[in-house]
Amino acid sequence: MTCDDRNALLARAAQHGQAYLATVAGRPVAASATSEELRNALGGTLGTAGTEAVAVIDALAAAAERGTLASQGPRYFGFVIGGSLPVATAADWLVSSWDQNSAVYAMSPLVSVVEDITAGWMRDLLGLPDHGGVGFVTGCQMASFTALAAARHDVLRRAGWDAEADGLTGAPAIDLLVSEESHYTITMALRLLGLGAGRARRVPTDAQGRMLAPELARMLGESTGPCIVCAQAGNVNTGAFDPIEEISTLCRARGAWLHVDGAFGLWARTSPSLAPLAAGIQRADSIATDGHKWLNVPYDCGIVFCAHPEAQRAAMSLAAAYIVADAQERDPHEFVPEESRRARAVPVYAVLRSLGHAGLRALVERNCSHARRMAERLGADPAVRILNDVVLNQVLVRFEDPHWDADAFTRAVIAGVQQEGTCWLGGTVWHGMAAMRISISNWSTTAQDIDRSADAILDALRGASRSRPGCARR
Ligand SMILES: *Cc1c(COP(=O)(O)O)cnc(C)c1O
Repeated sequence: MTCDDRNALLARAAQHGQAYLATVAGRPVAASATSEELRNALGGTLGTAGTEAVAVIDALAAAAERGTLASQGPRYFGFVIGGSLPVATAADWLVSSWDQNSAVYAMSPLVSVVEDITAGWMRDLLGLPDHGGVGFVTGCQMASFTALAAARHDVLRRAGWDAEADGLTGAPAIDLLVSEESHYTITMALRLLGLGAGRARRVPTDAQGRMLAPELARMLGESTGPCIVCAQAGNVNTGAFDPIEEISTLCRARGAWLHVDGAFGLWARTSPSLAPLAAGIQRADSIATDGHKWLNVPYDCGIVFCAHPEAQRAAMSLAAAYIVADAQERDPHEFVPEESRRARAVPVYAVLRSLGHAGLRALVERNCSHARRMAERLGADPAVRILNDVVLNQVLVRFEDPHWDADAFTRAVIAGVQQEGTCWLGGTVWHGMAAMRISISNWSTTAQDIDRSADAILDALRGASRSRPGCARR
């Protein structure tokens, strides 16, 4: 391939990317291609001859039009997703062009230094201790895995046991206290670490899903020895925060390691009005968060903060003879499970540098005010019940109709919204009740998007009401 051919190919991909982004706000949000259509467009036998590079890129771009969800667009409210700020996408294009292996300083001085700068900015922005270790991983799942590996190391070391050398067979038991509302990725991390998800004791929560500190206090009193507590900042359904300040005081008194899952909630710290929700989080021993959610960088990016970098290093690093560690410089692999890895701190750097404190705060506050607007618009309808206190960017909605079972009715409304295509959101079960979950995490969502989406949801509500056979229109 000549240099001109390469330029033409990359320009072509850029054009496709630009065309995709230019239309993503206007198209139906749901994917409309069936898996069969996608297989027909992209599959078939591989063949021996190969295909021209431009044709490969064109085929992928064509399939993406109806095969992707418009989750980059302003009216995708499913799960907790977030889009990608243009500066983050642009920086990510550079990352692919450079194709750096960012395991150690010697492989990429640029990436090592960018990680260091970005880590410092985030600690500052979020008010976290400035000596802590920071690692860039693939998502919050791996951030919690990394943090809990450091926790495992630390609580067992204090009990005279070397978990890295001797494993867990015969090790002192660790008392695991986990919020009953913990995200399932905490369970997965406990499994992967051999700590045993089934051994975790579940700490009861209140109506919003917040851990009950007095219950934690009681449970902490029931054991001695190694102990790890997992709390959360930002419940995936309600957006509620555990009382971290109180929890951290209890953990310190007991000598327990406190891990906080702040996948999206941690970013509340960027806003003076929202920061009190996460008060005390700077006292946690470890925190896991996501970049690809509220920070609006492309997949995949999670970040782990650990107040004890020596524990993080002990759990994660293992010197190999051919890896020349530079004591003066950051070797990124020492903070994460991976060795060879993408330079995923670069888009984070780009977002922080381009938005600054004020821009990031504005993004977070805007999404939260949009969540309140959505709750007000929907809640004004007598058939709608908002199930949560809208403290952050999450809204939980239940739909009621005198002639329907509310669970079935709620699911019918969700299906109607997904089919209609103005916006997309998913369902969940909250305290035994089916509910619609709306997460507002995209940088490009406007008040108009909220109003259009609220109208579409209320239309789907009326549609579902009418669709019940033999039932008069509400
Ligand atoms: C999304 C989420 C996770 C998992 O994050 P991934 O980036 O998907 O690994 C964990 N906890 C909470 C509260 C989340 O919202």
